[in-house]
Amino acid sequence: MGIATVNPATGETLRIYEAHGPEEVERRIAAAHEAYRQYRTTSFAERARLLRAAATLLDEDTEDIARIMTLEMGKPISASRAEAGKCAKAMRWYALNAESLLADEHPAESDIQDSGADVARVHYRPLGPILAVMPWNFPLWQVIRFAAPALMAGNTGLLKHASNVPRTALYLGDLFRRAGFPEGCFQALLIGSGDVERVLRDPRVAAATLTGSEPAGRAVASVAGDEVKKTVLELGGSDPFVVMPSADIVGAVKTAVTARVQNNGQSCIAAKRFIVHQDVYDDFSERFTAAMNALTVGDPFEDSTDVGPLATEQGRTDLEALVDDAVRRGATALCGGHRPEEPELANGWYYRPTVLTGITPEMRIHHEEAFGPVATVYPVRDIEEAVAVANDSPFGLSSNVWTRSPEDVAFFVRDLEAGGVFVNGMTASHPALPFGGIKRSGYGRELSGHGIREFCNATTVWQR
Ligand code: NAP
Repeated sequence: MGIATVNPATGETLRIYEAHGPEEVERRIAAAHEAYRQYRTTSFAERARLLRAAATLLDEDTEDIARIMTLEMGKPISASRAEAGKCAKAMRWYALNAESLLADEHPAESDIQDSGADVARVHYRPLGPILAVMPWNFPLWQVIRFAAPALMAGNTGLLKHASNVPRTALYLGDLFRRAGFPEGCFQALLIGSGDVERVLRDPRVAAATLTGSEPAGRAVASVAGDEVKKTVLELGGSDPFVVMPSADIVGAVKTAVTARVQNNGQSCIAAKRFIVHQDVYDDFSERFTAAMNALTVGDPFEDSTDVGPLATEQGRTDLEALVDDAVRRGATALCGGHRPEEPELANGWYYRPTVLTGITPEMRIHHEEAFGPVATVYPVRDIEEAVAVANDSPFGLSSNVWTRSPEDVAFFVRDLEAGGVFVNGMTASHPALPFGGIKRSGYGRELSGHGIREFCNATTVWQR
């Protein structure tokens, strides 16, 4: 289909966009490079002023950009509005905190006594134009959580957004220009994934960040490795959600449903594997199945909708194949396992919320990411088995545990292989907390001080 807005609720192609050709891409890279030379010398106060102006515009635009997101990728309209609000908050957080996060670091005099320096410090400088390759699932948030710290650090940004969210991509390019950022500071490139390599190999592009699937991450990191350029990779996840006997079961079930179906089930940090102690397994799985089955699947523009369509037809085909494979190999669908039957939903890419049990390691869904409203539930004997099942995944993005026992918490925090452990809650990103994974979920961190320093040159200043 190329670069196009296709409504996932109807399958209708609304607009096809012409990709930027080589000359336009060259013009934009040159502009990013040129802008960087001057922008890097601006003060934190000036950058913060511009970023706050962008946040104000975003607040004013909330309804418009929310409708664009829902139209392009199908998330419920209330979730789109919330995403815009979260972005404005993160922008203000970085506007307020970037200067202190990047303040010079002064090692203790006693530590550097033998270095020969009278004084020494670490000074954070920007790197240059950064290429951001981004996915469609949180089309505003994924970009802002890169752009806000990158721009506050003095870098410039080139956005290659997913090919199914071009209107959101163009909105973002425009947003920073309207806020007053100098021309070239942040631009969208309308290019397909096949053109990413050429941009990344351009010597004027300093580094890259990619949020997306493992194959995309591997492709971009390979080229960046060949060019010896820094990358941050935020890839897939299949987060465990562990429920122990002491847990608040009612609270756990309510959160489990939200954690699984948020964003129509298409979130990297969605809880996907529900690992439940045998003492509370029946209680949890009955309540969880009933709640999943009661969700309203439908038009994402309706406020009453809990689960809209999947963003792409291919995404639904992939999800169906994963469920069919599991059922063929002996899994049981406690609910769902098929498309909705309502005739008015027949043209969109909908899928019923599904709960699968009887999962074995031979099934693809045991190791692969289910990117849609499909949960797997595993009974376990004890905490050791819970951790073993949780860690039996190529991914290591985040994790959720429900327990009232401090000993359980200490055990999970020590042993779960993930970039986060959320206790009695669900994983969510926050500007002040680092976000990222281990194993096949990628490397590097976004948000917080960790995120802003990823694309900085930590410069040692040694002076006599
Ligand atoms: P995707 O197909 O990997 O696409 C992500 C971005 O990478 C798009 O801009 C895509 O461009 C580009 N891309 C794809 N293949 C590429 C290649 N070979 N070389 C260069 N660029 C390439 O992923 P998606 O379907 O949009 O998003 C879903 C995945 O993202 C899931 O695995 C999800 O878990 C992950 N994700 C991770 C995080 C996180 O923070 N860890 C957050 C959100 C999503 P085109 O659209 O033009 O193909």
